[in-house]
Amino acid sequence: KALNDIGWSFDNSYAKLPESFFTKQDPTPVRSPELIVLNEPLAASLGLDADALKSAEGAALLAGNEIPEGAEPLAQAYAGHQFGYFTMLGDGRAILLGEQITPQGDRLDIQLKGSGRTPYSRGGDGRAALGPMLREYIISEAMHALGIPTTRSLAVVATGQPVTRERDLPGAILTRVAASHVRVGTFQYVRGAGTTEDLRALADYTLQRHYPKADLGDGANRYLVLLQEVIQRQASLIAKWQLVGFIHGVMNTDNMTLSGETIDYGPCAFMDTFDPNTVFSSIDSQGRYAYVNQPYIAAWNLARLAESLLPLLHEEEEQAVKLAEGAIGTFTDLYQAQWLAGMRAKLGIFHEEEEDESLIEDLLKMMKNHQADYTNTFRALTFDKLEDTPLNGTPELASWYERWQARLGSQQESRDQSHQLMRSSNPAVIPRNHRVEEALEAAENEGDYSVMNELLNVLSNPYAHSPEQAEYAIVPERSRPYRTFCG
Ligand code: AMP
Ligand code: MG
Ligand code: MG
Repeated sequence: KALNDIGWSFDNSYAKLPESFFTKQDPTPVRSPELIVLNEPLAASLGLDADALKSAEGAALLAGNEIPEGAEPLAQAYAGHQFGYFTMLGDGRAILLGEQITPQGDRLDIQLKGSGRTPYSRGGDGRAALGPMLREYIISEAMHALGIPTTRSLAVVATGQPVTRERDLPGAILTRVAASHVRVGTFQYVRGAGTTEDLRALADYTLQRHYPKADLGDGANRYLVLLQEVIQRQASLIAKWQLVGFIHGVMNTDNMTLSGETIDYGPCAFMDTFDPNTVFSSIDSQGRYAYVNQPYIAAWNLARLAESLLPLLHEEEEQAVKLAEGAIGTFTDLYQAQWLAGMRAKLGIFHEEEEDESLIEDLLKMMKNHQADYTNTFRALTFDKLEDTPLNGTPELASWYERWQARLGSQQESRDQSHQLMRSSNPAVIPRNHRVEEALEAAENEGDYSVMNELLNVLSNPYAHSPEQAEYAIVPERSRPYRTFCG
């Protein structure tokens, strides 16, 4: 099929924002594009023809060698706090092709990641290695299947060119699909480098694109509403992360979206043994982004967003600060409410009771003390198979189990309804670290993508609790802690 048959339907709103927000920049062509993985259901939902994308012309497109009609390639400018330190950043190895309007009328960013140098590359080569791009593909699609807002992955193409890291690695480009790439760091950049009118343009843009239904009637402070809406979405997102044991690993302000989607899968990983202090990232030596810290870091990042918005919140700074502080102060309660609601569902509880919080906390305490696997403990509770967990036979478990059963018995809903609620709230499978590694090793070392494809298939329906998923729930003993690296 010809290029124009692929189904692109671009309408590029970001390119109409003030010029300082981005730099027009084409991807740098690569030697020999080869399609490694294509997300056919996602292609269909974007209105794209999967067969055309699988052709040589499709691979050329997904590699940035050809620019589709209607695209206006650009690199976005942004700033950010990285491990607490403010830096000027920007797309150093990514190009936004444009915004695809889907057959359902949604507007989605199409971005090539690993597509060559840009004015924001600093010392970097603008490229990405195959392993980390496949890793982003696997984990982002697993997150989506788990019901967690996230950027999506449309495809990975190998470039046929090595990238030099500690050693030479095969290069690749990921096609990322996102509600947008507007980040907390985008606001920090515009606050620092732009005018108040620029800031207003970005805030209005974000409101319109991500919060079109927000109540802006009757003298509402629209920028305070924006801040409050983002706080709510992030509180909900982080609660979902905590509930599945996802550790992002690099929650810098440039890696936090205004849309409320998870973004930038670098050193992220899922916790296995329950330990609130779990850190996987090799560069996070202080544990700033440990599992237990994620809600606090989210609030800290949102405070940086609030600071950036100050000139729009009120003309008097003191008043603006009060409004910002009031909004940020709501995060903890919003987060806690979402987390508790999710935990109740994981335990088959339908309605709120005061005692639930201690029931949940006591379970987590037992899990920590007995080094229980987080996901598998909830799976064992769902199927009444606690004998498979390290909690089995402990005196704490007996009394906790009695309390839990009494709590379930006090509900109007039947045991079967509780079981159904638990099945749909507790995944059978998560992207287990050893499974992800195994898939990447086969891909990188042997060019064998079957292990990854099988894993993707199993992860695509995490609440199925099918027999074939059982072996993906096994956690091997590790001789040393699992470590992740920035891609
Ligand atoms: P990240 O840690 O992926 O969020 O990236 C932080 C910043 O570093 C972003 O501005 C990236 O665009 C940039 N960056 C990461 N890797 C490269 C690379 N290989 N070449 C150029 N810029 C990069
Ligand atoms: Mg410009
Ligand atoms: Mg980033």
